[in-house]
Amino acid sequence: MTDLRQRALDLDAADELAPFRGRVVITDPDVRYLDGNSLGRLPVATRDRLRTFVDEEWGGDLVEGWSRWIELPASVGDELGAALLGVGTGQTVVCDSVTVNLHKLALAAVRRDPARTVVVTDDDNFPTDRFVLEEVARLAGSEVRVVHTDIDEGVSVDAVRAALGPDVALVSLSHTAYRSGALAPVAEIDRLAHEAGALTLWDLSHSVGSVPVDLSTADLAVGCTYKYVNGGPGAPAFLWVRPGLAEELRNPVPGWFGSASQFAMDAAYTPAPGVRRFLTGTPPVSGLVAVEEGVRLLADAGLSRLRAKSVALTSYLVELADAWLADHGVRVASPRDPVRRGGHVVLEHPEAWQLAQELRARKVLPDFREPDRIRLGPAPLYTRFVDVHDAMAELRDALVTGSHLRHPAARAVVT
Ligand SMILES: *Cc1c(COP(=O)(O)O)cnc(C)c1O
Repeated sequence: MTDLRQRALDLDAADELAPFRGRVVITDPDVRYLDGNSLGRLPVATRDRLRTFVDEEWGGDLVEGWSRWIELPASVGDELGAALLGVGTGQTVVCDSVTVNLHKLALAAVRRDPARTVVVTDDDNFPTDRFVLEEVARLAGSEVRVVHTDIDEGVSVDAVRAALGPDVALVSLSHTAYRSGALAPVAEIDRLAHEAGALTLWDLSHSVGSVPVDLSTADLAVGCTYKYVNGGPGAPAFLWVRPGLAEELRNPVPGWFGSASQFAMDAAYTPAPGVRRFLTGTPPVSGLVAVEEGVRLLADAGLSRLRAKSVALTSYLVELADAWLADHGVRVASPRDPVRRGGHVVLEHPEAWQLAQELRARKVLPDFREPDRIRLGPAPLYTRFVDVHDAMAELRDALVTGSHLRHPAARAVVT
């Protein structure tokens, strides 16, 4: 056995979070799953809870279940906010998708002050974010001011500063860059935006459940729950509004769930106090109970322990990439300083797509992002150091033998 593999086994033996691997469903122990940043594993508690939910709550309680279900968007939001965002109660709700929540909050922010209509974002923001912000600006009769971001370095404070002015309503960026893992300097950008009189809206999709974020200077945030929060495919997203701000904003997709008196069936819409006004229609209850279990599992593990293990996992991965893969043309495209890096590591290679297919054939699940990037997200809740070791050993073997070249270079529909 190599010294590096022994070190992985030693790190696993000393890992306080190791028992949490037993709390997720693992059907094939040979699979090295490094895509927890795209779809988290299924918690055992969630599987059990969904079974009970289907049999007893939906099947048994029928419509009477709503007396409890109705509170879930706010109560699950409070639990998620407390455990993963470090915010107080009454500021977070779980509903809709990231895309829809971003649309609601961004348009509300842009309409707050008619003198300000410009939205600032960057050209490396996640595609759905850019599509939403373009439409929000169009609806507001304005434009998106797109700043350039180096896809390895992450968003540049100087570029954001240069884009700010008295016409800017909103700065909307991602906290962890999906293509590099680079972290944006939230407090610094919040300060600059506020000096210019703009609000900030952060997309935390690639952070929540893995990377702590300090929202004490921010105004608005959204994020998803099917990545590190393990809520399951299509689980509802969350949105967060800083205390006091919701009253200044109108939900541009109003609905009865966000009205002050939902069952009064009033003729006129009066928004509910606080963040609840950003609810729209009937929420997906099975998804909400799954998010609740996912949040509770992460809360048990503790976000600071998760972050510490995540930093150790990604640092170990970078070390192996340097030792084994650099000579084969692989470049680490993520920040080397763990303070500037989120929960995933990106490796760049001209044959990345073929390498990703070869890894899958070897029971290592990475994901691939254009143009030539393998993205490895070792979720700290259930990934072992030895999984990282063995995945990287497979990648090295593929590069040494050229076995990946048997796969087509043309992309599949889902990469
Ligand atoms: C995953 C992700 C999304 C996904 O949005 P959906 O509406 O849930 O499809 C959006 N933004 C970022 C930054 C993401 O990482």
